[in-house]
Amino acid sequence: MIAESGTDAALARIKRAEPSFWANPFASGTVADDPLGSAVAEAEDRLRRSRTLLTKLFPQLGGQDDPLRSPLRSAAKLAEALGEAPAQASRHWVKADHELPVAGSVKARGGFHEVIAFAEKIAIAHGLIDPHADLAPLADPAARSFFAEYTIVVGSTGNLGMGIGLMASALGFRAVVHMSHDAKAWKKQRLRTHGAIVIEHAGDYAQAVANGRLAAEKDPLAHFVDDECSVDLFAGYAASAPELAAQLRECGIAVDARHPLFVYIPCGVGGAPGGITYGLKRIFGSDVHCIFAEPVQSPSMLVQLIHGVDQLTSVYDMGLSNRTEADGLAVGQASMLVAPLMRTRLDGIYTLSDAQLFSLMRADLASNDFGVEPSAAAAYAGPAFLRTSAGQTYLDKAGLRDTFANATHISWTTGGSLVPSDERAKLNRRAAAAQTFHVEDART
Ligand SMILES: *Cc1c(COP(=O)(O)O)cnc(C)c1O
Repeated sequence: MIAESGTDAALARIKRAEPSFWANPFASGTVADDPLGSAVAEAEDRLRRSRTLLTKLFPQLGGQDDPLRSPLRSAAKLAEALGEAPAQASRHWVKADHELPVAGSVKARGGFHEVIAFAEKIAIAHGLIDPHADLAPLADPAARSFFAEYTIVVGSTGNLGMGIGLMASALGFRAVVHMSHDAKAWKKQRLRTHGAIVIEHAGDYAQAVANGRLAAEKDPLAHFVDDECSVDLFAGYAASAPELAAQLRECGIAVDARHPLFVYIPCGVGGAPGGITYGLKRIFGSDVHCIFAEPVQSPSMLVQLIHGVDQLTSVYDMGLSNRTEADGLAVGQASMLVAPLMRTRLDGIYTLSDAQLFSLMRADLASNDFGVEPSAAAAYAGPAFLRTSAGQTYLDKAGLRDTFANATHISWTTGGSLVPSDERAKLNRRAAAAQTFHVEDART
């Protein structure tokens, strides 16, 4: 065999749709710049001012002081089921965004934030509320009838449409969701039940977004939620970082140079995992190590970061299909807002086959049984990829060999609690029939 350079070998594996771990050679550990810092601080503040509003709009949230907080749950049993040494298993957790209320996915963070930010902006412009005020009055009948003049438009593979559509309808906006062929029927149904207009497209996610953008441009009273480049979405996701930091403190978990934190997050277009990574780096700097998970047929962020962020590159350019059961991750082209921000912040990416996703769900079913959707199960595989030779090489180069035994691992479970019971039964049957989870240790 002719020795391939690191990048050539990585590209060859991508084209062969082979699961693998890629260490980002541009990762810089410490990040000096903070170009979206003020947007993130604003989002944190806006979401704080939205708490009463949210409990008014969604009575089922009543009684919680922070309705948009998701639990941090022990994943010790799952970690052991996936091959972790028993003595280390208690260091594994899930950040359970699949349990986020109303939207049932991470989209409750970015999607809700963007809709609320737009509602706040037009309400201030029309004198309905003062700047920086609590946002509870946005649920009043006067605001509602005012919002009814406006349309919120979004393109989505499913979950973003649900997050945006449900929040927009709750505030009284007209909501139009353009959905790609990947979108599951139950997600469309749920949206329609809640009063959103669902337009189905035969094309992929990027085409659904393009169709939504076009439709919104023709309507002066329409606001288009642009999943490919929205700062409001990104900042809403980033606002999750202080929440996690507080939970780690509550659990007595230290994060410092001696106790690194590893976070594994499923990636589609990059907004959710990119925002979370951005927020975590702002708080923990070089003590947090963020790693994305992508399907082997849809590694959009991986392909973009390998080729450099100056030219657009899609998974189709690699001969891949962008077809996967992980509908939340079925994105062919990464966000060009997010990719440049990940160039130095992201530590690595691993890719998974659909068969492996169901193997991860099988391990979950037999241990913690968190109830995630296939997209979110991708987050479980991080520790296993770090145990491969590629993962070990990364740990050596990053100087993490000595502190790794003290590390805390968090799999960010991005969606799943709203999957209807008949769909859940189907997923569980596939999971039960899957092989035991296994990662091929491709030596290069
Ligand atoms: C949207 C989504 C992601 C990824 O978010 P992007 O912003 O598209 O990268 C991951 N998991 C689930 C379940 C999602 O719905």
